[in-house]
Amino acid sequence: MTLSAGVEKFNSELFPEMEEKFRELEKGQSPETLFITCSDSRIDPSLMTQTEPGELFVIRNAGNIVPKPGTGELSVEATILYAVDVLKVKRVVVCGHSHCGAVTGLLNLESLNELPEIKAWVGKSVEVLDRLDSDASTLSDGIRENVKLQLEHLLEFPSVSRAVAAKELELQGWVYHFESGRVEFLD
Ligand SMILES: [Zn+2]
Repeated sequence: MTLSAGVEKFNSELFPEMEEKFRELEKGQSPETLFITCSDSRIDPSLMTQTEPGELFVIRNAGNIVPKPGTGELSVEATILYAVDVLKVKRVVVCGHSHCGAVTGLLNLESLNELPEIKAWVGKSVEVLDRLDSDASTLSDGIRENVKLQLEHLLEFPSVSRAVAAKELELQGWVYHFESGRVEFLD
Protein backbone atom coordinates (compact mmCIF):
# COMPACT_ATOMS: atom_id res chain seq x y z
CA MET A 1 0.00 0.00 0.00
CA THR A 2 1.31 3.50 -0.76
CA LEU A 3 1.66 5.92 2.12
CA SER A 4 -1.13 8.16 0.85
CA ALA A 5 -3.47 5.20 0.46
CA GLY A 6 -2.56 4.22 4.00
CA VAL A 7 -3.40 7.68 5.31
CA GLU A 8 -6.71 7.56 3.48
CA LYS A 9 -7.54 4.14 4.90
CA PHE A 10 -6.59 5.34 8.39
CA ASN A 11 -8.83 8.38 8.08
CA SER A 12 -11.81 6.55 6.67
CA GLU A 13 -11.67 3.26 8.58
CA LEU A 14 -9.63 3.51 11.79
CA PHE A 15 -9.77 7.11 12.89
CA PRO A 16 -13.54 7.22 13.45
CA GLU A 17 -13.18 4.42 16.03
CA MET A 18 -10.34 6.25 17.78
CA GLU A 19 -11.59 9.79 17.50
CA GLU A 20 -12.69 10.01 21.12
CA LYS A 21 -9.26 8.89 22.26
CA PHE A 22 -7.51 11.52 20.17
CA ARG A 23 -9.92 14.23 21.38
CA GLU A 24 -8.98 13.26 24.93
CA LEU A 25 -5.28 13.49 24.04
CA GLU A 26 -5.79 17.06 22.86
CA LYS A 27 -5.70 18.01 26.55
CA GLY A 28 -2.15 16.72 26.83
CA GLN A 29 -0.01 13.64 27.13
CA SER A 30 1.05 11.72 30.21
CA PRO A 31 2.94 8.67 28.93
CA GLU A 32 4.37 6.40 31.62
CA THR A 33 7.16 5.01 29.45
CA LEU A 34 10.10 6.43 27.56
CA PHE A 35 10.86 3.77 24.96
CA ILE A 36 14.30 3.99 23.34
CA THR A 37 14.77 1.71 20.39
CA CYS A 38 16.46 1.33 17.01
CA SER A 39 15.30 3.02 13.82
CA ASP A 40 15.13 -0.41 12.17
CA SER A 41 11.93 -0.72 10.12
CA ARG A 42 11.25 -4.17 11.53
CA ILE A 43 10.62 -2.79 15.01
CA ASP A 44 7.17 -1.41 15.76
CA PRO A 45 7.09 -0.27 19.42
CA SER A 46 3.32 0.16 19.63
CA LEU A 47 2.60 -3.14 17.91
CA MET A 48 5.02 -5.18 20.03
CA THR A 49 3.85 -3.65 23.31
CA GLN A 50 0.21 -3.32 22.28
CA THR A 51 0.14 0.27 23.45
CA GLU A 52 -2.06 3.07 22.17
CA PRO A 53 -1.30 6.66 21.20
CA GLY A 54 -0.39 8.63 24.31
CA GLU A 55 1.28 5.71 26.10
CA LEU A 56 4.85 5.64 24.75
CA PHE A 57 7.24 8.55 24.50
CA VAL A 58 9.76 7.35 21.94
CA ILE A 59 13.36 7.98 20.96
CA ARG A 60 14.62 6.11 17.92
CA ASN A 61 18.03 6.13 16.35
CA ALA A 62 20.39 3.68 14.71
CA GLY A 63 21.42 1.24 17.43
CA ASN A 64 19.19 2.60 20.25
CA ILE A 65 22.17 4.56 21.49
CA VAL A 66 22.13 6.93 24.45
CA PRO A 67 25.31 9.00 24.28
CA LYS A 68 26.67 10.08 27.65
CA PRO A 69 25.24 13.41 28.80
CA GLY A 70 27.30 16.46 27.94
CA THR A 71 28.64 15.02 24.69
CA GLY A 72 26.64 17.42 22.54
CA GLU A 73 24.00 14.91 21.37
CA LEU A 74 21.24 17.33 22.25
CA SER A 75 18.46 15.55 20.39
CA VAL A 76 18.70 12.48 22.59
CA GLU A 77 19.67 14.38 25.73
CA ALA A 78 16.87 16.94 25.55
CA THR A 79 14.28 14.29 24.81
CA ILE A 80 15.37 12.17 27.79
CA LEU A 81 15.27 15.20 30.08
CA TYR A 82 11.84 16.21 28.82
CA ALA A 83 10.52 12.69 29.47
CA VAL A 84 12.05 12.40 32.94
CA ASP A 85 11.85 15.95 34.30
CA VAL A 86 8.70 17.26 32.65
CA LEU A 87 6.54 14.27 31.74
CA LYS A 88 7.81 12.31 34.77
CA VAL A 89 7.69 8.94 33.07
CA LYS A 90 7.79 5.94 35.40
CA ARG A 91 10.10 3.79 33.34
CA VAL A 92 12.68 3.96 30.60
CA VAL A 93 13.02 0.93 28.34
CA VAL A 94 16.08 0.55 26.13
CA CYS A 95 15.03 -1.99 23.53
CA GLY A 96 17.64 -3.54 21.29
CA HIS A 97 16.73 -6.12 18.70
CA SER A 98 17.92 -9.19 16.86
CA HIS A 99 19.85 -8.76 13.59
CA CYS A 100 20.67 -5.12 14.44
CA GLY A 101 22.68 -3.56 11.61
CA ALA A 102 24.07 -0.81 13.86
CA VAL A 103 25.51 -3.33 16.32
CA THR A 104 26.80 -5.41 13.40
CA GLY A 105 28.67 -2.29 12.28
CA LEU A 106 29.91 -1.61 15.80
CA LEU A 107 31.39 -5.10 16.00
CA ASN A 108 33.24 -4.45 12.75
CA LEU A 109 33.98 -0.73 12.86
CA GLU A 110 36.48 -0.93 10.00
CA SER A 111 33.66 -1.93 7.67
CA LEU A 112 32.31 1.61 8.23
CA ASN A 113 35.44 3.47 7.14
CA GLU A 114 33.65 4.80 4.06
CA LEU A 115 30.67 5.90 6.15
CA PRO A 116 32.33 8.20 8.70
CA GLU A 117 29.15 9.65 10.21
CA ILE A 118 27.73 6.20 10.86
CA LYS A 119 31.07 5.03 12.21
CA ALA A 120 31.19 8.01 14.59
CA TRP A 121 27.63 7.41 15.73
CA VAL A 122 27.83 3.68 16.45
CA GLY A 123 31.31 4.35 17.86
CA LYS A 124 29.54 6.02 20.80
CA SER A 125 29.04 2.45 21.99
CA VAL A 126 32.66 1.45 21.51
CA GLU A 127 32.93 0.35 25.16
CA VAL A 128 30.81 -2.64 24.18
CA LEU A 129 33.83 -4.05 22.34
CA ASP A 130 35.89 -4.14 25.55
CA ARG A 131 33.24 -6.25 27.20
CA LEU A 132 33.10 -8.92 24.53
CA ASP A 133 35.40 -11.85 24.02
CA SER A 134 36.59 -11.11 20.50
CA ASP A 135 36.83 -14.82 19.63
CA ALA A 136 33.72 -16.25 21.21
CA SER A 137 31.21 -13.40 21.21
CA THR A 138 28.25 -13.40 18.87
CA LEU A 139 26.13 -10.61 17.45
CA SER A 140 23.54 -11.47 20.12
CA ASP A 141 26.12 -10.87 22.86
CA GLY A 142 26.92 -7.51 21.28
CA ILE A 143 23.26 -6.56 21.11
CA ARG A 144 22.76 -7.38 24.81
CA GLU A 145 25.92 -5.54 25.91
CA ASN A 146 24.92 -2.55 23.81
CA VAL A 147 21.59 -2.31 25.65
CA LYS A 148 23.34 -2.59 29.03
CA LEU A 149 25.80 0.16 28.11
CA GLN A 150 22.95 2.55 27.24
CA LEU A 151 21.34 1.87 30.64
CA GLU A 152 24.66 2.83 32.24
CA HIS A 153 24.82 5.99 30.16
CA LEU A 154 21.26 6.84 31.25
CA LEU A 155 22.34 6.64 34.89
CA GLU A 156 24.95 9.30 34.17
CA PHE A 157 22.13 11.81 33.69
CA PRO A 158 21.68 13.42 37.14
CA SER A 159 17.90 13.61 36.64
CA VAL A 160 17.75 9.92 35.84
CA SER A 161 19.96 8.74 38.70
CA ARG A 162 18.07 10.95 41.15
CA ALA A 163 14.68 9.61 40.04
CA VAL A 164 15.94 6.01 40.12
CA ALA A 165 17.35 6.49 43.64
CA ALA A 166 14.01 7.93 44.74
CA LYS A 167 12.28 4.87 43.22
CA GLU A 168 10.27 7.15 40.95
CA LEU A 169 11.85 5.74 37.81
CA GLU A 170 12.75 2.24 36.70
CA LEU A 171 15.21 1.36 33.94
CA GLN A 172 14.67 -1.77 31.85
CA GLY A 173 16.79 -3.43 29.17
CA TRP A 174 15.04 -5.49 26.51
CA VAL A 175 16.09 -7.36 23.40
CA TYR A 176 13.24 -7.88 20.94
CA HIS A 177 13.55 -10.89 18.64
CA PHE A 178 11.25 -9.74 15.88
CA GLU A 179 11.43 -13.06 14.01
CA SER A 180 9.81 -14.88 16.92
CA GLY A 181 8.00 -12.01 18.65
CA ARG A 182 9.87 -12.87 21.86
CA VAL A 183 11.20 -10.18 24.19
CA GLU A 184 14.23 -11.01 26.31
CA PHE A 185 14.26 -9.01 29.55
CA LEU A 186 17.82 -8.30 30.68
CA ASP A 187 18.85 -8.16 34.35
ZN1 LIG B 1 19.04 -1.93 14.92
